[in-house]
Amino acid sequence: MFERISEKSRRAMYYAMQEAIFDGVDSPEMKHVLMGLARENEALFQELNMSMEILFPGRPASEALSKVELKPGMHPFSKDITPVIQRSIKEADALGHRIAGTGHLLLGVFLENAEMRSLMQHLGVTADGIRKRIAEEPAEKVFSSEMMKSYRGYMGRSGIGYDLHRLEPGRRLMIGGIEIPFDKGSVGHSDGDVLAHAICDALLGAAGLGDIGTHFPDSDPKWKGADSLGFLKRIHELFEKYGLHIFHIDAVVIAERPKLGPHFPAMREALANALSIDAEQINLKAKTNEGVDAIGRGEAIAAYAVATIAG
Ligand code: MG
Repeated sequence: MFERISEKSRRAMYYAMQEAIFDGVDSPEMKHVLMGLARENEALFQELNMSMEILFPGRPASEALSKVELKPGMHPFSKDITPVIQRSIKEADALGHRIAGTGHLLLGVFLENAEMRSLMQHLGVTADGIRKRIAEEPAEKVFSSEMMKSYRGYMGRSGIGYDLHRLEPGRRLMIGGIEIPFDKGSVGHSDGDVLAHAICDALLGAAGLGDIGTHFPDSDPKWKGADSLGFLKRIHELFEKYGLHIFHIDAVVIAERPKLGPHFPAMREALANALSIDAEQINLKAKTNEGVDAIGRGEAIAAYAVATIAG
């Protein structure tokens, strides 16, 4: 989601967070998004015969609010705001635009939120009117050096994870929280879920919180035979505690057999549930090792994962 939003849209969300803090709330509400947009793209609002003074009379000027400090770990993607951003990206797609700019975000607010829509309709704004303005405005960019300065509080970060387990007959094969019917299973202290373990390490790496061995040492009998989805739940709790937010996880599982593709939907569901995210935030891929090495001979299974987070 993050990579589809323009720099100006992100700055508008930054302003929205300042507006929220000014109002004494922890995450921005829809009106704060509209305020943020009005501050970031005054020209667009003027073209639509709107302005901060008209929309929110009595609100202090931007200069007064520009000093408001964000809270550590604060991020703009609350449950209420996320659908608006997703909608703005959909609208950008429909218009053939790669990036959701401030105009698209305004359109998202208009289409998704009845209260803000009626406020804008009162001033004669329509969805088609916004679309017309978007078509006439220059396309917005994703990055600039200025962005690095204003977004230092919640830049995206990535982490990588890798894991390998030996395969032996007579054991359960757990991958991505799902038991896969197969004549071999992975050898491990816990349930040996190679994919869950790679994802754990990717997330902990992105968060700067060490690795799976630090949090769930295999010397501790507590984790013997442990359900690896439980590890992910623990990590989700840590993310909550530190105000971190998962954007996306991409992973590849390398196994000669069995075929994993048919199990991916169930795995994505199980992993997403454990992490309290949506299945669409997880992408899974399968590879064989072309018959080469231990993995190719069916003696082991491995996984790589990359996690992108903010916080
Ligand atoms: Mg492991």
